[in-house]
Amino acid sequence: MKAIRTFTVRPVLSESLAPLDRLASNWRWSWSRATHALFASMDPALWDEIGANPARMLGALGQERLDELARDEAFVQRVHAEDERLTAYLDGDRWFQHLEGPKPAHIAYFSPEFGVDGSLPQYSGGLGILAGDHLKSASDLGVPLTGVGLFYRAGYFRQSIGDDGWQRESYPLLDPYGLGLTLLRESDGSPVEIALDLPSDRRLYARVWVADIGRIPLLLLDSETPSNSDEMRRVTDRLYGGGGEHRLLQELLLGVGGVRAVRAFCRITGRPTPDVYHTNEGHAGFQGLERMSELITHDGLGFDAALAQVRASTVFTTHTPVPAGIDRFPRDLIADFLASGLFQNLDAGRAIALGLETWDGGDQSVFNMAVLGLHLGQHANGVSELHGEVSRGMFGMLWPGVDTDEVPITSITNGVHAPTWVHPALKAVSERAFGDAHTDAHDWTNREAVTDAELWGVRQQMKGELVAEARRRVAAGVGNGHTPSWIADLLDPEVLTIGFARRVPTYKRLTLMLREPERLTKLLTDPERPVQIVIGGKSHPADDSGKILIQQLVRFSRDPKVRGRIVFLPDYDISLAKGLYPGCDVWLNNPLRPLEACGTSGMKAALNGVLNLSILDGWWDEWYDGENGWAIPTADTASNDEERDDAEASALYDLIEHQLVPRFYEREGGIPLRWLSMVRHTMTELGKKATSDRMVRDYVTRLYVPAAEHDGALRADGFAEARALADFVRRVTDAWPRVSVAGVDSSGIPAQAQAGDTLEVRAEVRLDGLSPDDVAVELAYGRTDEDDALARDHSVHRLEPAGPAVDGVTTFTGALPLTVTGTFGYTVRVVPSHPQLVSPVELGLVTYPV
Ligand SMILES: *Cc1c(COP(=O)(O)O)cnc(C)c1O
Repeated sequence: MKAIRTFTVRPVLSESLAPLDRLASNWRWSWSRATHALFASMDPALWDEIGANPARMLGALGQERLDELARDEAFVQRVHAEDERLTAYLDGDRWFQHLEGPKPAHIAYFSPEFGVDGSLPQYSGGLGILAGDHLKSASDLGVPLTGVGLFYRAGYFRQSIGDDGWQRESYPLLDPYGLGLTLLRESDGSPVEIALDLPSDRRLYARVWVADIGRIPLLLLDSETPSNSDEMRRVTDRLYGGGGEHRLLQELLLGVGGVRAVRAFCRITGRPTPDVYHTNEGHAGFQGLERMSELITHDGLGFDAALAQVRASTVFTTHTPVPAGIDRFPRDLIADFLASGLFQNLDAGRAIALGLETWDGGDQSVFNMAVLGLHLGQHANGVSELHGEVSRGMFGMLWPGVDTDEVPITSITNGVHAPTWVHPALKAVSERAFGDAHTDAHDWTNREAVTDAELWGVRQQMKGELVAEARRRVAAGVGNGHTPSWIADLLDPEVLTIGFARRVPTYKRLTLMLREPERLTKLLTDPERPVQIVIGGKSHPADDSGKILIQQLVRFSRDPKVRGRIVFLPDYDISLAKGLYPGCDVWLNNPLRPLEACGTSGMKAALNGVLNLSILDGWWDEWYDGENGWAIPTADTASNDEERDDAEASALYDLIEHQLVPRFYEREGGIPLRWLSMVRHTMTELGKKATSDRMVRDYVTRLYVPAAEHDGALRADGFAEARALADFVRRVTDAWPRVSVAGVDSSGIPAQAQAGDTLEVRAEVRLDGLSPDDVAVELAYGRTDEDDALARDHSVHRLEPAGPAVDGVTTFTGALPLTVTGTFGYTVRVVPSHPQLVSPVELGLVTYPV
């Protein structure tokens, strides 16, 4: 019989163990080596069995064992020491508190998934794990941020592989109480309930769970509440429910319900109202419409002023370089919801226009969440430099007439949370050698701090653990109680180990390594210098093509000829990942460039001293430096996908055979010294860049601080500047079709220009009713290429009005300094000018001379 609901009965803790409750309900335990070890030590076997979670551990341990521990003085002392450490962690000043200048008061961070720990499977891949790492680094840095998401009753599915090699899924139900989450309650003790009015007189209610991620509260909305109809209870049943209305209801709950949950949370806890709203991908886009509706209803703003205010304070991060990866809903469905009274006083026609594909070739029947995100976020970014560039190209049609490289989408490269992802054994080396476990200041190239023997020793230890774990998992997967003898020889810690694990969408090319099975077999079975490969990955449950790829790999790996040297480990998730990355020598990544927006698994590997072997895509395109691993050349010129896969697979085999293998097996005193020097270089250089601490600092200084400043400026004096900006936008948008550059006087340029000369430039501009202050007349100059295009690093200089308009023409003048030699060019353009614009071209209004 299957229970329809499960819950946890908590034991009574004696006074001496009372702090365990608090330690168990703050997820900092998951990245604090000592707290983690404390809970595991209460009963190591049980800890693994219940899925490594302190709250569950307390529920499972039994009163007898707890009483025994309460009498163990050494244990009680550890409990109190950890409790004091937690207090110090939660209270102290950190990076953010020392930051000079204006700062955001509170950032609300929305994401459809959060990957905080293996025991809280509210994620399905990189997007969610990135969000989890964002919260953890925000906590470590003292950034006042609150996470907002949904609580899915069935989390990330568990994967097993059948005898036929086919993926099977199961969905264990999660009990939030048993995981250490607490219900958000009013001061009178009643649970906070969020309500959304929907079409056909339906109402969606949600309760709010709070997970404490160190200093960061994470609010998770849950539709499992008695107030809901059965239909509405199912809204948060699982991650990314189907398509159509189920998914839309989830996104409405996340965006609209999320804003309402943040309001309740601030009211109850006394936190300041957020002045920055960050949406991780487009799923939470409705948060902006909800906030506009608030501003219109409670502050008396018009639609345009409310839009200006919301834009100023919104940061939108896009994660997908493939148009097919963007969330889109039928336009009519959205229209029904907008007409239902969900958003008070919001003009439905104008609101819907914010998500429409109005460009040539756009689909007029859909509502596009990325378009909504870009319209509502004045601050937008991609997640690596290359992905920023791809995004500017992909979304350029929203800014017609604007050069692609000026499309207002910047980039902040992702990072990973080092305390979560660095193996405890390596953290211990770090603490011994450098005094702490931070990665960004450590010089691993210093052989006196860490000897070759010590470094190689810890790398071998981590590999040994992976080998043991792989054997354990494969034996468990056989499932008939008897372990085939070959499992005892599965993998070998002395062999060069390549890891490859990820979700299985086509572009990641799970099976590229199988392109030439004989070549792969030869590498795996080389009698002197073999290679072994550890693979993991989950296919989306509805994606049979991904399951076929997994099946191909599993079948290949079961061939007795290669069986000990290549293994597919089922159920790739955070728990497996934590042991998998450190246990490899090399991390392989072979997506179709440029479809991997960033990729983060290779960063987690690098922080553990693993070398990357990757296509130059995402982060690797930016940070590959010739010494931190290998770049698989991209066959961009191939005439079709087959040819491209052939060429790239062949380059992959060549690199392994001619570069990796010789270097790995070249030994001095049993240690691969040249290999280790690449490891040292990787850990030192990528230790500075690849962390989510660096990433969160970038978000704060480059996007959150400006967003908070714009928000404050627009809000001041009863939203005076928001109204003024809205008026300005309307005025320049109306007048712009008639703005023109009537002439540019270049007569001052002599035939023989010399570096150091300055030249007078005069531009005559028709402003048609706009004042000279409404525009910037810009002189752009610099080197040009053979097509007369200005180089990307060109300079921009603002021309000044020379006097009042004559016959509707205003003259602007300025000096053009000739600072560089060679082919040089310039142009003049007119753009709107207002102190509250982030980019001069963000309104899509640019006029060049005809
Ligand atoms: C880091 C991580 C990912 C994302 O890795 P990519 O390199 O972006 O594919 C996916 N799943 C798990 C379990 C991870 O830990």
